Amino acid sequence: MIRVSQPVTGPEELDALKRGLEKAYFGHSADVVELEKALAEFLGVGERPVVCVNSGTAALHLALASLDLEPGDEVLVPSLTFVASFQAITAVGAVPVPCEVRETDLLLDLDDADRRITPRAKAVMPVHYAGNPGDLAGLHAWAAQRGLRVVEDAAHAFGSSCGGKRVGAQGDLVCFSFDSLKNITCGEGGALICPDADSAHRAGLMRGLGMERPQATQGGPPSRSAYDVVTQGWRFHMSNLNALVGLEQLKKAPAFFARRQQIARRYDEAFSCLAGLALLPVDYAQAVPFLYTLRVLQGRRADMIAHLREREVETAVNYPANHQHSLYRNLATAPLPVTEDVCGQILSLPLHCALSDDQVEFIIAQVRAFLA
Ligand SMILES: *Cc1c(COP(=O)(O)O)cnc(C)c1O
Repeated sequence: MIRVSQPVTGPEELDALKRGLEKAYFGHSADVVELEKALAEFLGVGERPVVCVNSGTAALHLALASLDLEPGDEVLVPSLTFVASFQAITAVGAVPVPCEVRETDLLLDLDDADRRITPRAKAVMPVHYAGNPGDLAGLHAWAAQRGLRVVEDAAHAFGSSCGGKRVGAQGDLVCFSFDSLKNITCGEGGALICPDADSAHRAGLMRGLGMERPQATQGGPPSRSAYDVVTQGWRFHMSNLNALVGLEQLKKAPAFFARRQQIARRYDEAFSCLAGLALLPVDYAQAVPFLYTLRVLQGRRADMIAHLREREVETAVNYPANHQHSLYRNLATAPLPVTEDVCGQILSLPLHCALSDDQVEFIIAQVRAFLA
């Protein structure tokens, strides 16, 4: 079976883990600080601090917690996203307001979001679907005009750029995931990019159960004896072992990105004139694709999934609409017909760095055969 996604690791990650295990402390210390520095440099974030955590969901949760929302405050979010976006919003007592995406690029539809804004709306969580950040400047200007904070769910967009800057190097709060399938992996992990040192300090405290310790992250095991607890917090810190894997992955990131872009361009070229499909308009000079998602038209998605599965090609649907889950059924303030339509069309083809050129051509041939 050709898998739809899989991590690629090698002897470098294994050696890094071995080195980590030989140390007497595995928790959060110098290696995590080193990864934060390396990420800051890689992304070109300048003065914007990087806070590593143990998942992308934790990064979203901390970002929202740092906004000091009141219970019942609303966060605008596309219904088409991984459920982590919704769970992070409800975890801080806020209410997700599911919004439409644009049919073409599956990014948040700001006109629709505008119609759903109430006086309780305090923030917006755009999702950089498939790695495409869209028009970030336009999005931030839109949010600023409405007094909304922006928490970017950039879980798909590690490495993508917009206007000559990497995602994370601009904007308000930006959240990445380094889970096992993302553009780079720490095993599990995530990072929050904060707008200033103050918010990073607060996020750092909340990451570690609200404990304030002298020199907790200055290398070596933190002092266990001297601490005060100053805020609600969670156990969201990253371990050194995950950081060591991430540091090795970061060295490989440019090669990973180039390969992902190459495969996505090849798919685009092969599928561009096929009737029955709609491709996402993504600029691979800017975006590093996490997914290669297309829309299968004419109600043929289930047949295409079955056709590919019979030929040992795994596919995925990213994602079911969140407003249709049992827990979120009452959230939609108005119907979401575009989202419901595209959620019946989207299909993600295999995209990862373990795919060979032959496998990519095999997948293309199977898709063509199905549509012929
Ligand atoms: C992966 C992902 C997350 C969550 O990241 P984890 O590290 O798995 O917790 C959040 N949002 C989106 C869109 C994702 O794809």
